[in-house]
Amino acid sequence: MAITFPDLPYPKNALEPHISARTLEFHHGKHHKSYVDKGNDAIKGTEFENMSLEEIIKKTSGDSSKTAVFNNCAQAWNHDFYWKCMKGDGGGKATGKIAEKIDADFGSFDKFVEELKAAGTGQFGSGWAWLVLDGDKLKVVKTLNAENPMSQGMKPLLTADVWEHAYYLDYQNRRPDYLSAFLDKLVNWDFANQNLG
Ligand code: MN
Repeated sequence: MAITFPDLPYPKNALEPHISARTLEFHHGKHHKSYVDKGNDAIKGTEFENMSLEEIIKKTSGDSSKTAVFNNCAQAWNHDFYWKCMKGDGGGKATGKIAEKIDADFGSFDKFVEELKAAGTGQFGSGWAWLVLDGDKLKVVKTLNAENPMSQGMKPLLTADVWEHAYYLDYQNRRPDYLSAFLDKLVNWDFANQNLG
């Protein structure tokens, strides 16, 4: 089963002025597409060819002989997930069931925001900042490069891409400003609630 290259769930200009159409043109049209293409090349004719991306990620994480498979398949999954974590009129305080769980597990919404920003700005080099379900507790974690918390048995609920290609055209080196815009203006809490189940 080939890895698919999904359309963005909104028009390219839907996240402006916080993330520009030009960023999405490159980030989705070039970076994400390249992970899908290279992932398909890497799994072709191998034991991974008929597995889901989730299975491939769990089976190849940490295996130094499978880095091309892991990196490209994980990045294909991560980006598909990341697009859905945002919407044009999103951001601000969490809503629904996850809002109550954030208050319960972090103490307050502000504390969650502080932790996610710290994880995103504190990730040296490339990676991701995540809100996950670990057992029955919400947690913020950061991962390096293509890594995904599902490899550690956690369930991703929300993610911010902190690779430079996610924000450089709009924010240059100002990763904290991009993370503030992500949290204040873009987060799709409906999607995070769906993932919480
Ligand atoms: Mn990216």
